Amino acid sequence: MSAESSNTPPATDAAARTPMNPGDQAAPGTPGTGEDVCPKCGGSGQLGASACPDCGGTGKVNVGIGGA
Ligand SMILES: [Zn+2]
Repeated sequence: MSAESSNTPPATDAAARTPMNPGDQAAPGTPGTGEDVCPKCGGSGQLGASACPDCGGTGKVNVGIGGA
């Protein structure tokens, strides 16, 4: 008898591992993309008194680099 009680689907895990922000053009780690200063908040991660919604308060967004 095997006592396997883990019932977690891998789909939800993959989604949780890719925290994309609205300002991101691609998921982190995507070839041809890189981190850049968030144009919305200028890299401060703050927009007024709250966290910038585009970069999620990180001040950086993942955008395409090298042409296009
Ligand atoms: Zn921002």
